[in-house]
Amino acid sequence: MVESNFVDYVKIYARSGKGGRGSMHFRREKYIPFGGPDGGDGGNGGNVILRGNHNHWTLLHLKYERHILAGHGGNGSGRLSHGADGEDRLIEVPIGTVVFDGDTGAFICDIQYDGQEIVLLKGGRGGKGNAFFKSATNQAPKYAQSGEPCEERRIILQLKLLADVGLVGFPNAGKSTLLSTISAAKPKIADYPFTTMEPSLGIVDVRGDHTFVMADIPGIIEGASEGKGLGLRFLRHIERNSLLLFMVPADANNIREEYRILLNELAQYNPELLDKQRILAISKSDMLDEELETALAQDLPDDLPHIFISAITQRGLTALKDLLWNKLNEYVFSDIESIVRRPMDIRIADPDDDFDYAPPDDDAPKTDEDDDVYQ
Ligand code: GDP
Ligand code: MG
Repeated sequence: MVESNFVDYVKIYARSGKGGRGSMHFRREKYIPFGGPDGGDGGNGGNVILRGNHNHWTLLHLKYERHILAGHGGNGSGRLSHGADGEDRLIEVPIGTVVFDGDTGAFICDIQYDGQEIVLLKGGRGGKGNAFFKSATNQAPKYAQSGEPCEERRIILQLKLLADVGLVGFPNAGKSTLLSTISAAKPKIADYPFTTMEPSLGIVDVRGDHTFVMADIPGIIEGASEGKGLGLRFLRHIERNSLLLFMVPADANNIREEYRILLNELAQYNPELLDKQRILAISKSDMLDEELETALAQDLPDDLPHIFISAITQRGLTALKDLLWNKLNEYVFSDIESIVRRPMDIRIADPDDDFDYAPPDDDAPKTDEDDDVYQ
């Protein structure tokens, strides 16, 4: 496995904080021999919260965070002293992150927009101190509650790129070149030894008014759906793409046939992919003369909008961006629910996965009171 900064899969052990115990305590002062109960409440344990953050593009920042532990609530004490609440832990993730239970593989939730917050694990409530239980009939309760326990869970975070447009094509079609040419800004994804192995995202600017996200999916080779090559693992990134831009280079032997093979690969992997809008870009059109281009155009599938482009001469690029933007508006934005809600294919274990995420030693605060039982 190539070590890279594109991290789309992490496992984490997460635990909320437990509630602090309520205090069983009586007021003791020099000249007040029988002071009332003044045991304060325990603090609440901290929550583990997932939050969408559009500044993150990968899960790299979580790669070495094996344990995410919220703070425990502090214990209550005498003089009505309330225990401190445990600190929440925020897990900031890119849009398109899906969370699964690490043990069962069950879907837990997904993050769809910037700022979205989901409480993954709730902290335990702090216990009430004995002062709370004082009543007309019981002036001196000799009990207090212990705090609620914490919750723990092993989770898997998996990134589904929420690109609006996914590029589909064989290696060398010119996908990376196109993306680097029309991207206004690029997310921080480092250089890879083998660039085509990693998907990358680009933010495409449309006439200074709009932007959409385009994902360069690593070259699909024939047979990718059967597990050959690198295409398969990354195909999942286009499951949510709203629009697929097929790319076949102008010098292909048979453009129609190449398109058909690509389509077939997608269908093998997930037939639902065929429900998406498709556009065909014939790249490297600078290699064609007019006559050849007219001949090629006549042999293209009728039901598929096509466009000749060249990243080198910039030909067709503005028209392509306009076309993509218009298609996105026409189709996607009217059907956003069905796209976002589509059930997803889940792969739990990566074969090269050797991550041991045993729970950490208990770091619960220990106090002298801990051994007493007040219930
Ligand atoms: P990818 O594997 O689909 O990402 O393809 P690349 O973007 O890496 O490009 C493959 C090769 O095609 C590179 O040598 C590029 O320089 C070349 N290429 C890309 N775009 C064009 C183009 O518009 N015209 C020509 N003539 N060559 C191009
Ligand atoms: Mg490439």
